[in-house]
Amino acid sequence: MRTSDAKTSGEVHFPHASGELVIEIGLVMLQGSRQAHVKAIESAAEKAGVQVNIREVRTPGDLMEPKLHAMILPGGESTTMRKVGGKDGTGVLGEIFKMLRHWPDLPVLATCAGTILLADPQDEGPPIIQAAVDRNAWGRQIDSFLASVSIRGEVEQTQCAFIRAPRFTEVPPGLTIASVEGEAVGVRERNVIALTFHPELSRTTVFHEMLLEAAAANDDQVNA
Ligand code: GLN
Repeated sequence: MRTSDAKTSGEVHFPHASGELVIEIGLVMLQGSRQAHVKAIESAAEKAGVQVNIREVRTPGDLMEPKLHAMILPGGESTTMRKVGGKDGTGVLGEIFKMLRHWPDLPVLATCAGTILLADPQDEGPPIIQAAVDRNAWGRQIDSFLASVSIRGEVEQTQCAFIRAPRFTEVPPGLTIASVEGEAVGVRERNVIALTFHPELSRTTVFHEMLLEAAAANDDQVNA
């Protein structure tokens, strides 16, 4: 579907850039593209002058103290992720969904399969994001492609990987933050950034910077 890009300022502000804050980030380790997110978040943190601690989230206990400022739900294969993290697996996925419903302002970066899970949690609760996706709608693995993604309207362009990617079928107005030829490929709902592609496999760190910015701004809630 086609939507116009939401206009954002393009400015990234870090209220805690002086360095005293350590942003606690939960990296969900179900399956798929994870290590590339570590590199992307580290380089985003360096650019922003903030400190991060990346915590691997494998079990429900990993979601506990210290409280997370933000979470990354990597891409991969959602069917496998549901098995690994579902009721017959670690159970972490259900706990993540509960946490995101309970704390809707938590900054999240979801890529590809991560976006599928948020749009269609399949745990009998409501979706975490309102945007709807169609799995594998670009075709099979062999139909994967690189595309120039327009981020924040015309401001930045970068080549990103669409790997057996989902496609948005419905995006509520004003939520698109990334597009390819006018088609939404990334949305932001509250602090949830949900993308159908893999920015961590390209040179852009702009989405990881957005996540850190939202996480730093949310520090008051974390310490409430
Ligand atoms: N096709 C995958 C799925 O349905 C998503 C692909 C990806 O995350 N790169 O889960």
